[in-house]
Amino acid sequence: MALVKETFYQILKEAGYSRTAARTAVFEALLGQEPMSMHSLVESVRTADRASVYRAVELFEELGIVQRLYTGWKYRIELTDRFAAHHHHLTCLECGRTTPINEQQLESFIVSLARQNGFEPSAHQIEIQGCCAACQQRAGQS
Ligand SMILES: [Zn+2]
Ligand SMILES: [Zn+2]
Repeated sequence: MALVKETFYQILKEAGYSRTAARTAVFEALLGQEPMSMHSLVESVRTADRASVYRAVELFEELGIVQRLYTGWKYRIELTDRFAAHHHHLTCLECGRTTPINEQQLESFIVSLARQNGFEPSAHQIEIQGCCAACQQRAGQS
C-alpha cells in the first residue's frame, strides 16, 4: 500500500502538483475498490466537497492515475494499471455489480492478435456486459 501511495505522490510531483488533502482522499477512496460512480465517490470522500472531488478526478485522468469505465453512456472511475493489477470486468446491467476477471490466455491472445496486424499494443480495456448469476436467479423466481 505504501509503495502505491509513493507512486501516486511521485506522479503528482513530477507534473508539478502538490499533494493536497482532497487529492489524497480521492486516491485513497479508489484504492483497492471496484470501479466507482462519481456519485459514490463523492459520498465516500467525506473530507472534500463535490467540486474538489470532480477537480481531482479530472486531474487524475489527465495524469493517467484513473480511467473511465463506460457502461453505455454511464461511466465509473477506477485506478489505472499502475495502481491495480491488470484485470477486466464483468458488469451486470441489472444490479450494476462489477466483478473483476483475470485470464492470462486472453492477455497473450490480445498481444499476438495486435502483433499479427503489425501493431505494438500498449493498453486495452475489456468489459463484458450482461446479467450476473444472482440476477438471473432472481429473474427465474419471479
Ligand atoms: Zn446483477
Ligand atoms: Zn487485459
